Amino acid sequence: MPRPSLDDARTKIVATVGPACESVHQLEELIEAGVDVFRINTAHGNREQHEIIVRRIREAATIAGFPVGILLDLAGPKIRLGQLHHDPLICEEGMKLTFVTETTDQPREVTSTYERLIGELQPGDRVMLADGTVSLRVEQVQADRAECVVTVGGSVRSRQGINLPGVQLSVPALLERDVDNAIWAARNEIDFISLSFVRSPDDVRQLKGLLHSHGSNALVIAKIEKPEALEHLEDIVENADGIMVARGDLGVEIDVAKTPVAQKRIIRVCREKMKPVIVATQMLESMHTSTRPTRAEASDVANAILDGADACMLSGETAIGDHPALAVTMMSRIMKCTEQEMMRGPNRNHQISYRVHPITSAVTQAATHVAETIEAKLIVIATRSGNTAWVNSQSRSLIPTVGASESQATLRRMNLLWGIKPLASEHLEDTSRFIDQMCRWGHEHTDLRQNDHIVFVTGTGVVDKAHNLMVVHTVE
Ligand code: PGA
Ligand code: MN
Repeated sequence: MPRPSLDDARTKIVATVGPACESVHQLEELIEAGVDVFRINTAHGNREQHEIIVRRIREAATIAGFPVGILLDLAGPKIRLGQLHHDPLICEEGMKLTFVTETTDQPREVTSTYERLIGELQPGDRVMLADGTVSLRVEQVQADRAECVVTVGGSVRSRQGINLPGVQLSVPALLERDVDNAIWAARNEIDFISLSFVRSPDDVRQLKGLLHSHGSNALVIAKIEKPEALEHLEDIVENADGIMVARGDLGVEIDVAKTPVAQKRIIRVCREKMKPVIVATQMLESMHTSTRPTRAEASDVANAILDGADACMLSGETAIGDHPALAVTMMSRIMKCTEQEMMRGPNRNHQISYRVHPITSAVTQAATHVAETIEAKLIVIATRSGNTAWVNSQSRSLIPTVGASESQATLRRMNLLWGIKPLASEHLEDTSRFIDQMCRWGHEHTDLRQNDHIVFVTGTGVVDKAHNLMVVHTVE
């Protein structure tokens, strides 16, 4: 079925692109399976590869006829191990491991990608390697070496991540490579840019400033994966255009036992401040190799939706897994089953939003109410910037909702909004032509029947920039 389709899940799917899905054909297959936004992770690959991927995503989107969005993920101040003397290095509990400034021929001396690391470590600090599987405690620090002891053993490889929970680092929010990638993203009309390891609202403002100065309106997604970000959560959410619950690193930086409640709090703050929120990492982890998820993974996707998430993300499952399309299809099926059962009360948000004209906000909410009362088949929102669709998304109505826009960029950006199906339209100015065009789409792509209702939210142009018109159209 061509997308958008009334059969799509309301909750959005973000899929990470990698070797397992990077041909045009595979990307197109994933769009058909339900992907709304593709993530390109700049922690992997180079500029040339990223350019090829962007071209292929756009080609696949054109073939599929769906304005899929692109999210460029900036690696931010992620610290990694340097080249190890021997790969892998087996760390046994009690063993000494020393950070040094330059690679030596001592197998238990290691380097990092962060020059100032040794100077910023203090005895007693915890250092975690390889996604938190190996733990070290800093014992002694000298000018050019920091001696650590292994407290939880395991095996590490060159270039694996280093997490320093609770250690105050002076590393800037945007490294040179991030600035370079952000400018490239601005020039290439990338829709969403996410920043890793955000620590303060300033980090977000800095990236937004950089993007604006290069003429980009890309939406900035702050990845919450540091304890500092949880401390400044409200301000970060306020400053960002969207949030990612980046559970991979978050589960290393804070006690993994605390990540489920952290997820709930992050989503709650995003709902209060009306910002789209993506839940990420290990959602269908076992589908790297298996054709079916574990029961716990199925519940994880469902619970993220019940918490109020706008989108769920697939990482390795689509980037390097054995079954990328199956993972997307499975995620979409879990979403649809969950949405049908979703309690209506607690997930709805009837606040007046100051991002749109108060008339728009009120009319949009009233339209949802009317649509539910008369059991309309469809809500159609005319939206130039996407803001009106975004207000509508907050009400979490199960009535299929189309966000119709003349702007391709707006259509792509609506891909993170819960429940909104982006659809290109040409006649936003002319209400009757607009209604005709949308009805025609409805007849061709949905099972609209005689006496079915469609609720339109649009404007007469009398009140500047406000949607002051709601039309209930009954199919003849
Ligand atoms: P990453 O971010 O995959 O870029 O590390 C997500 C996470 O940490 O969960
Ligand atoms: Mn991360």
